Amino acid sequence: MLSWFPAQIKEHGLLPATRLLLRVMRYRIPVALSNRFLQARVECPVCGWKGRRFFDYVELGYRVGNGACPTCDSHSRHRALYLWLTKEFQLEQKTGRALVFAPERSLAPLWEATPNLRVIKTDIAASRGVHLLSDVMRLPFASRSMELIWCHHVLEQVEDDRAAMRELCRVLKANGELVISAGITRLETKEFDSADPMLSGNRRLYGADFPERLRAAGFQVQEMTYNLSTEELERYGVYPEMFFYCTMAG
Ligand SMILES: [Zn+2]
Repeated sequence: MLSWFPAQIKEHGLLPATRLLLRVMRYRIPVALSNRFLQARVECPVCGWKGRRFFDYVELGYRVGNGACPTCDSHSRHRALYLWLTKEFQLEQKTGRALVFAPERSLAPLWEATPNLRVIKTDIAASRGVHLLSDVMRLPFASRSMELIWCHHVLEQVEDDRAAMRELCRVLKANGELVISAGITRLETKEFDSADPMLSGNRRLYGADFPERLRAAGFQVQEMTYNLSTEELERYGVYPEMFFYCTMAG
């Protein structure tokens, strides 16, 4: 919270940031009390925390209930991908170079526990322990240089997402793997004229044509689900969402 508030002031101004802080507190206090006094119903697979429910994730323009882990700040998507990375993808056995965009704080220990993978964390802004700044539309890496690329909920905020997808395709090795997702909320993608501060700075809302855009950039795309039972979705506080496993086409 101590570092979060100044960052929000810088991004939105003092008044909106203060309003946001008050909203966060308003939703957080009852959850904190129920976690203290009521029997646990949810657990975080990332850090092992157990409680009644996760904190609400509150942004300027929206709120997601039962969202953020009070201990490691994992969100629904992070918890589900953590389970997939460890159980199905076998991340700890991967080798070579991995390019990780907008590294999720809660997944940091997982990337550190990959002895044979050289992980390069990157973002457009210095935060969350990135190794170097880069613009996904103009990547400072050689062609065919990455065995693995991890890129979640990034392309919504990029000016030219098709150029970004072509860059991801350029730097991925012929036998490499791209694991990518975006918030898909509509039938067709809706482009905005500029970044929307009420929607986490998104420049578009993706539709069901997102995988088609990946295919047009040169990927072979496999549509994935978290593959969790109803009981697991409830226990881990996960909202079902699609993600994409991509390899080079042809
Ligand atoms: Zn956690």
